[in-house]
Amino acid sequence: MLNGISAGLVSIGTAFALNCGTAIAADKPGNGFQTLSYRLALTPDIPAKSLAGRETIKLRYTSDGVQRLSFSANALIIDSVTLDGVTLDHEVQGDVLSFKLPRPAQRGRTATLRISYHGRPARGFAGSQLTLYTSYFACDWMICSQNKFGEKAAFFLDLRVPAGMSSMSVGTLVSKRKGPDGSEFHRWKAPRPYSAYLYGFALGRFNRASEQAGPSKLTYLSDTADEGELRRRFADTKDMIAFLTTKAGVPLPVAEYSQLLVDGSEAQEAATYSVLGTDALPTSPNDPSEDWAIVHELTHQWWGNLITCETLKDFWLNEGITTFMTAAWKEHRYGRAAYDAELDVARGRLERARAAGFDKPLAWDGAYPTLGVRRAIHYSKGALFMAHLRAALGEDAFWSGLRRYTIEHAGGAVTSIDLERAMEASSGRDLRALFAEWVFEGGLPD
Ligand SMILES: [Zn+2]
Repeated sequence: MLNGISAGLVSIGTAFALNCGTAIAADKPGNGFQTLSYRLALTPDIPAKSLAGRETIKLRYTSDGVQRLSFSANALIIDSVTLDGVTLDHEVQGDVLSFKLPRPAQRGRTATLRISYHGRPARGFAGSQLTLYTSYFACDWMICSQNKFGEKAAFFLDLRVPAGMSSMSVGTLVSKRKGPDGSEFHRWKAPRPYSAYLYGFALGRFNRASEQAGPSKLTYLSDTADEGELRRRFADTKDMIAFLTTKAGVPLPVAEYSQLLVDGSEAQEAATYSVLGTDALPTSPNDPSEDWAIVHELTHQWWGNLITCETLKDFWLNEGITTFMTAAWKEHRYGRAAYDAELDVARGRLERARAAGFDKPLAWDGAYPTLGVRRAIHYSKGALFMAHLRAALGEDAFWSGLRRYTIEHAGGAVTSIDLERAMEASSGRDLRALFAEWVFEGGLPD
């Protein structure tokens, strides 16, 4: 992602709630429970960029005495909330939307939360009068916890699609049925649990082109570009998948991968597709300086989506590895000079942050002064660290370590120590000092 990174600047759960006259720190969104699945029925209004929705969340309590179910606050208007059939009140305090339970919950118990809402999402809805696509801020148009990266939940979406339009969402379109006024309801199902920020959808009158990449179907969509332009713009996708599969040791993790071409500079991954703006794509074929967006967002299918940082603290594992792999693709496609040039861009960004007096370990847990500085650390320094590891360990140990990390944690959530252990296992070396220098705040971890 690039646009979505701004979410990291949002305070997560500093709100306070009143309880029995005593001020206590409110739960961070997602604290005390684990979401098992989301089922949504959404009716978007494309010109108004608004929607009405019904959402069913199945959850399991992860601690005793939970008194509230907290999620990321958003601009939607809550119409009704029930928990196992019992009506709940809701309140918003700062960044936190919470539902007060009738009695404290017991760890291990499951529950079903049903919410109806409507409104105009403040973020994450984009497009034109005839097109709507979501971008990163899933918890602005559904009820979820935006920054609970390590929590992966199943996702089912019934989307009302206006007459003459088609839809795209996560996973597979499993059924269609007729709705009112010529509309249709499209049911989408995610192929595996994903982090909430990766959920999304798009509606419009799309031209399409499809091709196979091994067992996976690739689809390219646009409401302006024709099929020929789509095939030309995304021609390298198959080769990128072959390259990334070799380096990951894991095939493309989805049976269908789509790329939605839109106006502007969008470059945003979702669980099984990416949204790419024309301004982020090459203007001429075979230009090694400009194809980063396609490979960057595709790379997230492995690092970011399949293997996800446990918390924002280790966000560099999503973005630093992906930025490095973008450079590695360029080396494969265009030669070593293109790899070096990509890393030089990263070095320049990190140097600018340092010149402004800011440099932190990759897994630093504090607040960043600006979006650019955060990116200089998570994206650029992260990529430079991966390149440094590659040079230090040598080709065989480095790539085998990356494959080990990827295979071992496929489908899961990770922290920086997982990468260290995989690289140590593949190289037979003690890398604590190297990781202490680059990654861990305060030096050596426990
Ligand atoms: Zn990214």
